[in-house]
Amino acid sequence: MEKVIGNAKLSLMQGDITQQDSDAIVNAANSGLMGGGGVDGAIHRAGGPVIKEECKKIVAEHGRLAAGQAVISTGGNLKARHVIHTVGPVWHGGAKGEPETLASAYRESLKVAAENGLRTVSFPSISTGVYGYPIDKAAEVALRIVVDFLTQETSLKEITFVLFDSRTFEAYSRVMEEL
Ligand code: ADP
Repeated sequence: MEKVIGNAKLSLMQGDITQQDSDAIVNAANSGLMGGGGVDGAIHRAGGPVIKEECKKIVAEHGRLAAGQAVISTGGNLKARHVIHTVGPVWHGGAKGEPETLASAYRESLKVAAENGLRTVSFPSISTGVYGYPIDKAAEVALRIVVDFLTQETSLKEITFVLFDSRTFEAYSRVMEEL
């Protein structure tokens, strides 16, 4: 499923983000940047220890990554050249700024990509695993922020959401149809 927005293409697919051959894949990391479960663990396993080494340096220099922020590292052994690590919000019912923090996680990731002159970026569904953000609500935020960003002048040419399971893929597809 895809849409053209400005000079860029936005698409959705079901699959494993670690297999993506894009300039960067985005990692739904945690603040310590030391890997974990879910997509974070999968990216570190597939990319090898060099990613963790770089993350360690980033945290030593700048401290832990607050929710809504993003940083870039090498892609290590991945097909993707870079990993953009961002931290989404933990869902606490929706009145604790979760939508704003999730929007910021997407926006800051896109900003880091554009600042590095990247053209193709793949996103997972941030916060909808262990962090418990309801998928339909998360899909609305994710797609709205990406569409807003692509309507600006940017180096980005292709944004792909790589959604792991069919339930997540279908939720994002419904929101995309309404855009
Ligand atoms: P969070 O802590 O931000 O909720 P999770 O990794 O627990 O992050 O889940 C985020 C989403 O990533 C979930 O939809 C999960 O199914 C998905 N996911 C897990 N592994 C992969 C993978 N290899 N590629 C793409 N998405 C993945």
